[in-house]
Amino acid sequence: MDKVQKHEGLVCVCAECKVVIRTVGTVPPGSTPLISHGICPACAEKLYGEIFRARVKE
Ligand SMILES: [Zn+2]
Repeated sequence: MDKVQKHEGLVCVCAECKVVIRTVGTVPPGSTPLISHGICPACAEKLYGEIFRARVKE
């Protein structure tokens, strides 16, 4: 626990395709932003679109 870094910003990355969905706050060069995993709209459609449509069908 020797590295206490200041997290200035937060980067939301898609857990599926690793694309950066959005950056919250500012991420100065050299800093380590907090990584938050989410799902981008394209992957949400891919992952949940079929489930959603299957439910509608029933
Ligand atoms: Zn994605």
